[in-house]
Amino acid sequence: MGLFSSSNTSPEYLALVTRWDTFIQKLRDRYSEVMTSAEGPLNDMMNGIQYDSIVFINVNTGLKNQTVDALSKKGDEGWTKMSSELYKINATSSDINNLHQKLNDFQNWIALEFEKYEVKIFADAARKILENVKQHINESKLHRCTQCAAELPIKVYSFMAVNLKCDSCGSVNTYQPDDRVRALEYYVLNHLAEEQAFDLKIKGRHDRSAAKEYYLKYYGYLMDNVPEKKDFYKRDMDERISWVEKGRDPYIN
Ligand SMILES: [Zn+2]
Repeated sequence: MGLFSSSNTSPEYLALVTRWDTFIQKLRDRYSEVMTSAEGPLNDMMNGIQYDSIVFINVNTGLKNQTVDALSKKGDEGWTKMSSELYKINATSSDINNLHQKLNDFQNWIALEFEKYEVKIFADAARKILENVKQHINESKLHRCTQCAAELPIKVYSFMAVNLKCDSCGSVNTYQPDDRVRALEYYVLNHLAEEQAFDLKIKGRHDRSAAKEYYLKYYGYLMDNVPEKKDFYKRDMDERISWVEKGRDPYIN
């Protein structure tokens, strides 16, 4: 409270504060209710997934509409009424701002809670998908040269087609990774990378060095797990870090 501003502590104002706090608390409770009632269906979907997490993309869009979008909008509508009540009792602008801040806090909170939920559900799905893929990929299967049948040193968990020259006959074989393995990059690794770097991402919204650390950690994870695409990820990483350094990172926010 500034030196020259006075707080409006009239009973009318205090009644509006209570009304507003109750209203915002109801919005928070509503969020928890919707998310709790979604748990059962989400678990069923989780049990049903095989090699991708596409099902959660649509579900999350619906859930987000019902929660973040609908409840934020409800908050804005509530504010329209509340601010006219505040003008009626001649509330000071700092009192008005304080109440409006509670709405901003709520809207930031719900957006972040939903983001955390999304990171977690895609990471849980990633672990499930990885388990499924591992069960179906035979790592000990031999890969043989199409010309001379000599054994080729194939890395089963690769994410790009590779051309391998056969040591025995010199002919070039193209190895296409299994589609399920290839899909690990998008349905597993990205999400696990995001999960383990997510706290830095949040911090990075207010702190440039944390934002840089986020990209180092996120891309570091991908580079460790997809060494054949190391250069590709490094370019992406360097580009994003340079955006951070210019203070204009469009991705993290
Ligand atoms: Zn050969």
